[in-house]
Formats: sequence, C-alpha cells, structure tokens
Amino acid sequence: MPRETFDTISGSTSFTAILGDPVEHSLSPAMHNAAYAELGLDRRYLAFRVAPENLRTALRAIPALGIRGINLTVPHKIAAARIIPHLSREAGLLGAVNCVVSRGGRLFGDNTDARGLERDLRRIGGALAEQRVIVIGAGGAAASAVLAAIRVRAVEITIVNRTASRGHALKRRFSELLRTIAIDARDLDALQDRDLLRDAACVINATSMGLTTRDFAPLDYAATPRDCFFYDLLYAPKLTAFLSPAARARRPYSDGAGMLVAQGELAFRLFNGVAPPPGVMRRALNLKLGRDS
Ligand code: NAP
Repeated sequence: MPRETFDTISGSTSFTAILGDPVEHSLSPAMHNAAYAELGLDRRYLAFRVAPENLRTALRAIPALGIRGINLTVPHKIAAARIIPHLSREAGLLGAVNCVVSRGGRLFGDNTDARGLERDLRRIGGALAEQRVIVIGAGGAAASAVLAAIRVRAVEITIVNRTASRGHALKRRFSELLRTIAIDARDLDALQDRDLLRDAACVINATSMGLTTRDFAPLDYAATPRDCFFYDLLYAPKLTAFLSPAARARRPYSDGAGMLVAQGELAFRLFNGVAPPPGVMRRALNLKLGRDS
C-alpha cells in the first residue's frame, strides 16, 4: 500500500471491511478503496481474517467500533444469517448474508449476490426468458444463482449437486414459486444426461470445484446447444476448470468477475448511501486480475 494511504488515515476516517477465513485472496478491498479514492471520501475498506468460532464476537464488535458495514465471504455467509437478528427478505430467502449494515447500534443483514449475478447475466446479454438453466451446487452461492435465474425469467431450473439431499433442500427453499417455475434437483451424473443438456440455455457453476480441486466433474459440453452460455461464479486470471472445456467446445462463457463487481457496487451503496462512480470498481478488479479494462 502506498505510504500516502497511511498518512491520510486520521481519527475521523471511518471503515468498512470484509470478514472471511481465509481472506488474503479477496479483491474487495481493491474495489471499494478505489471507489473511496475516486469520491474523495475519508473512508477505508479493510480485510479481517476471522475464524468461524469468532464470528459472533466479530459481528458484535461492529457497532461498538463504529464500523459502517461489512461484507462476509466463505465460510461465514450461512452462519451469519443465523446470528444477525434483522435480515432483508432476500437474505432470509437465501439463508445467507453477504453484507451487514450497522445503523443506530443495530445490525441488518442483506445479500447482494443474487442481484449481482442477475445484473451480470443481463449485461452479458444471455436471453434466458422462458429457457432452462442448470445450476451446479447447493450452497449459498447456488441459492443466489437460482434466484438470479428466476429473476431473468428462466422457467425450468435444474439444481445439480454432489450431495443430492442438499440439492433437494435448496429446491424446497423456493417451493412458494414452484407453481410457475419447474425446479428439479439431481446428482452430478445429470451433467452427462444428453436429454437434459440438449435444452440448456445456460449452465452456471456455483460450486468450489476448480478452486479446491484441479478438475471439474465430467460434463458433456458437446451435448449443449451451440449458444448455451457457461457461467462460472469463480474468477481467476486464467480460464477456470469449468470454462476451459466450454471455450474448447466454442460455447460462449464468462467467469464471475462481473458478478463480484456488481455485488460489490450494490454493497458499497448500502454501506455509504452513495453509489460508486461507474466503472471504478471494475477497473480496480481488472487491474488485479491482469485484464484490460
Ligand atoms: P459452499 O456453501 O461451501 O458450497 C460449496 C458447493 O460446492 C456445494 O454445493 C458442494 O457440494 C460443492 N462442492 C465442493 N467441492 C466439491 C467437489 N469436490 N465435487 C463436487 N462438488 C463440490 O460455498 P458457496 O458460498 O456456495 O460458494 C461457492 C463458490 O461460489 C465459491 O467458490 C465462491 O468463491 C463462489 N462465489 C463467487 C461470487 C462472485 O461474486 N463471483 C459470489 C459468491 C460465491 P456438496 O453440497 O456436495 O458439499
């Protein structure tokens, strides 16, 4: 960090932060601090490594320290939804919190992941209305992906997960909507089911495969339509294990960098009451990922 960054922190500087374990890899500080610098706000965004057993204590300290708001990343999103008393409707539906705002000494939990992914799916122009979307995974990120798919008006959603019971539990979460949308839950073998893949308009990876493993589960990319869109919530300087075969099969694809920016822009507004200048957070992320802006 440049020396002047420390020189400009004073007793009146206020803070936002991300809590995770690990957290060193997070690119959120770069995005949020770029927006503060551009707006000339006397605020900074920090990163704290918080072990799961310390999450409750760390959350309780937020109002005590006057921290404006925090983001939560792996492994805290689901645990925080059980700890924070006031949840937005969306955080309650997803059973996961990715941002917490402190107001008048009280904590409010929200989740900007689904809205972030929805924005990015619209930006990249995949027309998913009336289409089938396959969501791989059944954790907090997969719940956001299912909600985003519903909002871009997909009508058939297949949840594919290694542990089938978790997939079924995720399906039940959306049971109120099941009269208008067909949601199905299958195990990983479904990724080789040509009948299922033949109709897919989009396949979304919302698992940590490719991050915690070198390879992705067997998937019959060639069975999907030529314009089937492959979207990986993971992002990395290089193509992910899920996207490399999609690129080889000449299918359109995107990683989750756009979602990260969009959920971050929404969180910034919640924390600060003002939107970040357009493009600033994206440029800061691209710089970190070694991409052209
Ligand atoms: P999570 O709750 O821990 O869920 C992990 C999911 O991955 C589960 O469905 C799990 O299946 C599956 N999985 C893990 N290892 C597997 C393996 N070896 N084989 C098959 N399936 C495996 O995590 P999460 O919070 O949902 O996050 C998932 C990913 O999304 C993370 O990598 C995170 O970084 C990313 N994410 C990105 C953004 C963004 O802005 N781009 C936002 C949120 C999350 P089981 O149920 O069988 O264990």
